[in-house]
Amino acid sequence: MTSSDTLAHNYHPLPVTLTSGEGAWVRDVEGRTYLDLLAGYSALNFGHRHPDLTAAAHRQLDRLTLSSRAFDHDLLHPFAEALSALSRPVIAGIDAPMVLPMNTGAEAVETAIKTARKWGHQRGIPEDEGTIVVAEGNFHGRTTTIVSFSTDPEARQGFGPFTPGFRVVPFGDAQALRAAVDERTVAVLLEPIQGEQGVVVPPADYWPTVRQICNDTDTLLIADEIQSGLGRTGTTFALELWGVRADLMTLGKALGGGVLPVSAVVGCPDVLGVLTPGSHGSTFGGNPLACAVGLAVIELLSTGQVQHRARELGTHLHERLRTLVQGGLLTGTRGVGLWAGLDVDPAWGTGRQLCERLLELGVLAKDTHGSTIRLAPPLTIAAEDLDLALDRLTHALR
Ligand code: PLP
Repeated sequence: MTSSDTLAHNYHPLPVTLTSGEGAWVRDVEGRTYLDLLAGYSALNFGHRHPDLTAAAHRQLDRLTLSSRAFDHDLLHPFAEALSALSRPVIAGIDAPMVLPMNTGAEAVETAIKTARKWGHQRGIPEDEGTIVVAEGNFHGRTTTIVSFSTDPEARQGFGPFTPGFRVVPFGDAQALRAAVDERTVAVLLEPIQGEQGVVVPPADYWPTVRQICNDTDTLLIADEIQSGLGRTGTTFALELWGVRADLMTLGKALGGGVLPVSAVVGCPDVLGVLTPGSHGSTFGGNPLACAVGLAVIELLSTGQVQHRARELGTHLHERLRTLVQGGLLTGTRGVGLWAGLDVDPAWGTGRQLCERLLELGVLAKDTHGSTIRLAPPLTIAAEDLDLALDRLTHALR
């Protein structure tokens, strides 16, 4: 039996085995070094083993690691208060948003869906009839309910029966969304920018119009900031790019600082308040280690320096990528902050082939959807390392 027989085949990783990492750099078992331009799909916004984050984890490992939610611990409320304060600019109509800690991104999305359904039910929508409007090309995780409204055949095939109650409309088309919302709609659930789909940024008036539609129809707006949030776009949250506030927001990935899974739903107390003891929970959600690391992440974001770096380096990244498009080496590029989707000419090869070539040149990236690859370097990457990676990308394409 080889090792590939004992591990389930639900991933097709690039042929590299990592053993250590620091900042934007990782090393493989043969001692080769690579620049990590995927950063754990944005879970590593602060790079590998950021000293503040590992120190917070080490300190907490020596105190208390798990209490379960049967008992409070001394970091649970400080974590909730810090995340509430950080989220204030993007949560509608409230000074002190409520926080519900979970572990993975999919769990946070599930929590938001359950909350919205119960909120709708309490406002008179019959229990089995509430609908949630979502976007084509969405990615919100892998649970049965979440893949029920995925439009990616690979994510769905063979996994039925699916959870009903979702309506899918094209992403970026506010009029289609308006037409899909009716008196049975409890929520609209969207990624501010579709990451897995290849960093698809909607038109400038999309989010303000979606907010207006939700106001007009008394529908909850749920923003999934699991990939876009916590500095990636050059703002703390992507919603700030359009000055829009959500009723519920899901966070994950970078909230765990690349150390452990930490997610949360943040929202208005009159919405999250529909959850009562016994109606929802998680053994590990809000555990002491998660809160210690989460607090250190929030501290890193509190000065705005990380966001500022993402904006500055992002401007440079997008300028260089546009040059590659102008030079005919890429067919398209888009993105915001330190986050980009690039389209490879299918005549050149697939996104996977480009990632394999980059791997040989010491750069880690991952394809998404055929000929598209996504770049999401750690926000702490040195400017010269970003340039080095982009030189290698240029070389690979040539
Ligand atoms: N939501 C978005 C926008 C994501 O990008 C992801 C993961 O890529 C998820 C949810 C699911 O997160 P997790 O893999 O932690 O369950």
